Amino acid sequence: MQLFKDQILKVSNSLTGEKEVFKTVKEGYVGMYVCGPTVYSNVHLGNCRTFMSFDMIFRYLKHLGYKVRYVRNITDAGHLENDADEGEDKIAKKAKLEQLEPMEVVQRYTVDFHETLKAFNLQPPSIEPTATGHIIEQIEIIKEILAKGFAYEVNGSVYFDIIKFSESNTYGKLSGRKLEDMIANTRDLAAQDEKRNPQDFALWKKAEPQHIMRWPSPWGDGFPGWHLECTAMSTKYLGETFDIHGGGMDLKFPHHECEIAQAEASSGHSPVNYWLHANMLTLNGKKMSKSTDNNIYPDEIFSGDNRILSKPFAPSVVRFFMMQAHYTSILDLGNDALLASEKGYYRLMDALKTLEKIEPSESSSFDVANWQKACYDAMNDDFNTPVLIAHLFDAVKRINLIKEGQETISKADKKVLQDSVNTFVFDILGLVDQDNNDNNATTINGVINLLIDLRNNARANKDFATSDKIRDELLTLGVQLKDGKEGTTFSLN
Ligand SMILES: [Zn+2]
Repeated sequence: MQLFKDQILKVSNSLTGEKEVFKTVKEGYVGMYVCGPTVYSNVHLGNCRTFMSFDMIFRYLKHLGYKVRYVRNITDAGHLENDADEGEDKIAKKAKLEQLEPMEVVQRYTVDFHETLKAFNLQPPSIEPTATGHIIEQIEIIKEILAKGFAYEVNGSVYFDIIKFSESNTYGKLSGRKLEDMIANTRDLAAQDEKRNPQDFALWKKAEPQHIMRWPSPWGDGFPGWHLECTAMSTKYLGETFDIHGGGMDLKFPHHECEIAQAEASSGHSPVNYWLHANMLTLNGKKMSKSTDNNIYPDEIFSGDNRILSKPFAPSVVRFFMMQAHYTSILDLGNDALLASEKGYYRLMDALKTLEKIEPSESSSFDVANWQKACYDAMNDDFNTPVLIAHLFDAVKRINLIKEGQETISKADKKVLQDSVNTFVFDILGLVDQDNNDNNATTINGVINLLIDLRNNARANKDFATSDKIRDELLTLGVQLKDGKEGTTFSLN
């Protein structure tokens, strides 16, 4: 269904600072690019919030009937420790520390990233390209920018020329910075710096002999600058101008500003119509930081193995907590807030089960169509999930009143209410009924134990054909049986 024809979606565009009606480049299609992780460490909870916000946006756009191509990259080279093109490559540094190949580091933390996002029930993007898989495309863009005169080569490195670019374009328009102020606020160039101006940024860096991640290029062996990969991959998969570019607020400057400059310099037009930025997550009122120990990883929340929270919290409860704030607001995580979200989450899940069982009446005592419209209005207002959740709790209240006989609902309205609540809760907010999951796990364990009993009986009767069949078939399903002194146990692969 092409709901987008009736639902007028507005989004907060960081480029204009306005809430604007969302209009796609091509009717019915959305191209969305979100800056993915640099895979040199376990994924940070704050990053999970950003990706969860864009997952909700991805889900809502699809619900509206758009065909969405969602590209989220993996940065596996080129991201230096310091935004000013200095320091070591983050992945190469970790590889040296752990005595691994850089690609082992990349693989390890890409797997962690995927597993964590899966636990939070994020849907995979349509394309997940890597920086190292697009070196050729990046070199092509550098050639283009050089040919247009917006970059210069020095000693095997290529830098973007901000001063030249600013003669015909505006650098700083996304972050609201003025080039004159930037110039006034920077100290003089260090003597060894090759840049003509401190605001210039690297498109290609010459690899020193000890640098392991290197590729041949027209300027010698080197590696691409961090900002370039996103321009190369978004252009390749979404075109020179696409609909949505997202990322964390902290990427606005310099990363996204540089992406705009690179695209405008190479293609001659603005790359993105709507820039969306997700805000940060704090912990107990303070910025999360590994160095001050004010930090928690998703795994530690799920297992309860941490010094910050009083108990473990299920991934869906954490997701529900995140959805209770607007994606552009700062959100503070703490024990009390999670406890409150957990209570709300179970109230919501209980109401869904109650709704299934309630008997409809001749007529409804409240306006379900109007309630449904309010839910869409909330989502159309820049994906306002906290307002949507308030409406869902209004429905929870009604459902409980119907159960108590104080309100009524007709058969047709019951269906509308059920369908809408399920759509908003599971398809759009991306929540999972944790109880159902736990019940499924209990059922599976019971079935496997039953099969173990049957196999033991078969073995006692010397019917080895049957006992081997049970063992082998379970193994193909990923269930490994282990016979020990204490009897037979199993593990799930
Ligand atoms: Zn990026």
